[in-house]
Amino acid sequence: MDDQQEKEELKQLAQCLKDFLGLDRYYTNPYSILYFLSNQTLAHIEENKHIRFSSAEIAKSVAKVKSEPSAWISQNWKKINSDLKQKYEKSLSEFALSRGLNKYPWVAKIDSTGGAGVQAQYHIVGLEIDTSIVAKSDNLFADEPYDIQYVAVQNLKPSYLARFIFNNNDTAIGWRKWLLVFTPLAQIILYLLFALVFILAFDKKSHPINTQDLVYLMFVYLAYRGCKYTYQRSSIFFDDRLIMASDHLLGFKEANVVQEIVTVNDAEGEFLYKKVQLVKYVSVCKVCGSQVVLEKGEPSFLRRIVGRCKESPREHVYSFDRVTKKGLRLI
Ligand SMILES: [Zn+2]
Repeated sequence: MDDQQEKEELKQLAQCLKDFLGLDRYYTNPYSILYFLSNQTLAHIEENKHIRFSSAEIAKSVAKVKSEPSAWISQNWKKINSDLKQKYEKSLSEFALSRGLNKYPWVAKIDSTGGAGVQAQYHIVGLEIDTSIVAKSDNLFADEPYDIQYVAVQNLKPSYLARFIFNNNDTAIGWRKWLLVFTPLAQIILYLLFALVFILAFDKKSHPINTQDLVYLMFVYLAYRGCKYTYQRSSIFFDDRLIMASDHLLGFKEANVVQEIVTVNDAEGEFLYKKVQLVKYVSVCKVCGSQVVLEKGEPSFLRRIVGRCKESPREHVYSFDRVTKKGLRLI
C-alpha cells in the first residue's frame, strides 16, 4: 500500500472516530483524549505533520497537565483501552460499517523503548470488526431513504434501580424482564389501596362535608391519576414496544433514553427470546448540525417517539424507525 493510500485510510478512520464522538459529548479525560487524537490526526494529515502523539503533547492540550504527563496518561489509557473500548466497540463498528469502512477506528499505544525523556506515543489505528456483535440488519435496509441515521450510544448512566433490573449491559433478560411487567402492576395495586383508605375514611363521616373531606377526595383523585398514568404507560409499552424510559431508571442528568423490547433471533432467523433494553439513540441534524435526541412526539405526533434537534426542537423534527435506525424529516 502506498503512502497516499495509507494516509487516506487513516484520514477516514480519524474522521469516523471524530464524528462518532461528536454525536454525544462527554467531558471526561478519556473521552477528551480520544477526541484530541482524532481531531489532531486530521489536522496533522492536512499539514503533513506527525501523526503519533506523545504523552506530553496530549496531556498539555487536554488537561493542561504540566508535571508527570506519562503517569496521567497511563491512568486514562487503562480506561480508554478497557471500559471505553468495550462500551464503544459495537456502536462504533456499526457506525464505521455504515460509512463503508471495513475496520473501526481506535487508538493504539507505542511503548517507549526506554531512555531518559522518551515517552510512549499514541496514534489512530483501524481494528478488525467483530461481525458477531454488529447488527446484521444494517445491509437489509441499505436502500431505505433517510435524512438522518441514528446511532446507539452505549455509555448510559442508569439509576441504582435500573442497574439492578438492566444488569446485563443495559439489558434486562430472564426474570428481571418480568419485573418490568410486575412493577407497574404492583404500583397500580398500591394506588388502589391508597385510594381505598381515603374512601373508607370519607365514608365513616356523619357530619357535613368539611375541608378535611375535600383533602381526602383530592388524595383519591391523585391515586386515580396515578393508576391511569401507570396503566397507560405500560399498555403503550407493550403495544408499541418502545417508550421513553422513566426518570426512575435514569441517573442524574441522563435523559432522552428509550426503553425497548427487542426480539433476539439466532443465525437462521429462529426466535430465541425477547429482551428489554435501555438505549440512547442520537444523530446529527441535517439542517443545522446540532445533536438530535429522541423525545415524545406530542403534541404534533401523537404516540410517536421522534428525533428532535437540540437547537430547534420544534422545527427540526425527524421520524425514528427503531428497526432501520433511520429517520426522515417530519417538519
Ligand atoms: Zn437542527
